[in-house]
Amino acid sequence: MNKNRIHLSTVHQGGSESKYIQEALLSNSLSTGGKNVDDFENTVAAYLGEDVHIAALSSGTAAIHLGLKLLGVGFGDEVICQSLTFSASANPILYLGATPIFIDSEDITWNLCPIALQAAIIDRIAKGKKPKAIVAVHLYGRPYQIDLIHKIANHYEIPVLEDCAEAFGSYYKGQACGTFGTIGVLSFNGNKIITTSGGGALITKRADVKTKAIFYATQSKDRALFYQHSVIGYNYRMPNICAAVGQGQMEVLDEHIKLRRDNHVFYTELFSEFEFVTVHNVPNEDYSPNCWLSTILVDPDNKHNVRNEDLRVALEIENIESRLLWKPMHLQPLFENCGYYGGNVAETLFKNGLCLPSSSNLTEQDKIRIAAVVRRVCLK
Ligand SMILES: *Cc1c(COP(=O)(O)O)cnc(C)c1O
Repeated sequence: MNKNRIHLSTVHQGGSESKYIQEALLSNSLSTGGKNVDDFENTVAAYLGEDVHIAALSSGTAAIHLGLKLLGVGFGDEVICQSLTFSASANPILYLGATPIFIDSEDITWNLCPIALQAAIIDRIAKGKKPKAIVAVHLYGRPYQIDLIHKIANHYEIPVLEDCAEAFGSYYKGQACGTFGTIGVLSFNGNKIITTSGGGALITKRADVKTKAIFYATQSKDRALFYQHSVIGYNYRMPNICAAVGQGQMEVLDEHIKLRRDNHVFYTELFSEFEFVTVHNVPNEDYSPNCWLSTILVDPDNKHNVRNEDLRVALEIENIESRLLWKPMHLQPLFENCGYYGGNVAETLFKNGLCLPSSSNLTEQDKIRIAAVVRRVCLK
C-alpha cells in the first residue's frame, strides 16, 4: 500500500499559526491562560456575535463538564441528552454523579426529536424528577430544530446546553450556532473544523458565568494570600501555546467552511447517480451548516445489495478512511441502564449511515480516488 491515507477529517494549517506561536515563545508564555488565550477568546466571541463571552478550556469535554456544573447539575440529578452523538456529550453527566436520559433523533436533521423530548420531560416530571438540563447537539455540523427544541425547553423552564463541538461556523436563521443555549460548547480537537491541537470553549452571554467557568477551570482558588479552596476545582484552562495555534486557525475558518461545503457538493453530485444512496442535507435555507462531515444513508433494500459497510471496507482497502455514524448512546454498554425515549430512528441511521472523508484539505486527486471506489462498489 503506497497510496497516501485519506483521512475522515484532519488538521489543515492556515499558515500563520507559527507567527502566533513565535509570539507566545518570545514572551515565554508557556502556561495555561495568557495573552494569546485572551486574544483568541476575543476573536472567537467576535466571530459568533450576539455579545457572547468565551472561556477557552482544555477540551470540549471539559467545557461540557463545567457547563453542566454551571447549570446546577449535581449528584442524583437527571439530564436529558441526544442519543445519536459522540460519547463526550454524555460522559460529563456521569462525572457529576447525574444520570443521562437519552432521546431519539428525528430523521430530518438527525438531532433531538421534539416529540420524544417532550414525552420524556412529561414522564420524568410525573415520576417525580424534573430534568436539570438538556444536552442538544448539532450533529456533523447540521443545526438541530432550534425553534421547536427551545420552545419546549423554555416551556418547561429547563436550560439547554448546546453541544456545538461539530458546528462552529454553522448558522440557523442567520444566528451562529453555539449562541442559542443557556451555555454553548465548542471543540478545537484536531479532527474538528479548526483546531488548537486540542482544546475547547464555553460560550455564555453572561460575564459572571465566564468568570465562574475560569475560576473552576483554574482549581477554584479563593481570593486569599495563600491557596485556599472552598469548592472543588479543575485544571481545565487552555494552554497559551494552544490558543496561538487557534489564532492562526481563526484566520482560515471561513475558508475551511467553504471547502467543506464544496466536499458536500462533490458527494451530492457523485451519489446522484445512485438512487439508493442519499447524501444528508438540511431541510431548508433556515439551516446553514458548516458541513463538518458529509454523510450518506444507504437504503438497505437496493437491488445491488450494497450496504454502508461494503462501502466502508472497499474504501479502507484503498487506504481511504470512512466511518459508521456515532453508535447511539442508549445502545452503549456503558449506558445500558439509562432511560430512553423514542423509537428506532437513531438506531436505523446508525445501521445505514456512513461518514465520508470531509477534510478541508481534501484534494482533487483524493476525490478521484474516492469516486473510483464508490462507482466500483455501487455499480457492481
Ligand atoms: C468532539 C466532540 C466533543 C468533545 O470535544 P473534545 O474537544 O474532543 O473533548 C463533544 N461533543 C461532540 C458532539 C463532539 O463531536
